[in-house]
Amino acid sequence: MLEITDIEAGYGRTRALHGVTVPTGKVVAVLGHNGAGKTTLLRLAIGLIKPTKGRVLFDGEDISSLAPNKRVARGMAYVPQGQQSFGQLTTMENLQLVADGRRRGKALLDAQLARFPALEKFATRKAGLLSGGQRQQLAIARALITEPKLLILDEPTEGIQPTIVAEIEQTIMQLAGEGINVLLVEQHIGFALEAAERYVVLASGFVTHTGEGGSAAASTVRAAMAI
Ligand code: ATP
Repeated sequence: MLEITDIEAGYGRTRALHGVTVPTGKVVAVLGHNGAGKTTLLRLAIGLIKPTKGRVLFDGEDISSLAPNKRVARGMAYVPQGQQSFGQLTTMENLQLVADGRRRGKALLDAQLARFPALEKFATRKAGLLSGGQRQQLAIARALITEPKLLILDEPTEGIQPTIVAEIEQTIMQLAGEGINVLLVEQHIGFALEAAERYVVLASGFVTHTGEGGSAAASTVRAAMAI
């Protein structure tokens, strides 16, 4: 379980997070307008940014100064915004890059092909030629091959056609059901709150609201965000 407490962090002299504490939960949604600090918070969680104050615990261990690769080894996976994969490699090659050399790699790869039929269908297609939604599925599949205990997802449904948005939402619900914790930045507030056990709203790097998820929370959050 990830615990983020009283964090100050930013870029050089620009402070992007001010005293941020994130509630714990199996699925935690991070909400807020553009520039609120959501991506910065996720980058902090995986260790791409180090806090100048506060602490990050994972399964009770203080990982505040641990490098990203060591966090991945402990069971964290990060899927950044923008469906990043190697466009010149095929879908299968992208998956093999993560699976090769990993114990149970082949079985883990096969499990992801079973989870995402589109990836199986387009296994030999270059990743750069997949649709945005398929590339997002590929990015999530790559992360899942590392068998994370915590999956950190930055706007997984951004810029994706609605039919695949529904599939990705379903995947996130499934993962939670499989016992994988999720830290989720998501613009679709209705879905984010449906999936989330807890949520946090950021504005200009400050926490303005936290609470329990569930569809009833949507109106509170929309009012908090003035939307
Ligand atoms: P969006 O929804 O637009 O991605 P966000 O809530 O994820 O927004 P962040 O990207 O975390 O917000 O940005 C928080 C603040 O940090 C903003 O003021 C932004 O300008 C600043 N910031 C983000 N990345 C950098 C960077 N690499 N260097 C300097 N400042 C940055």
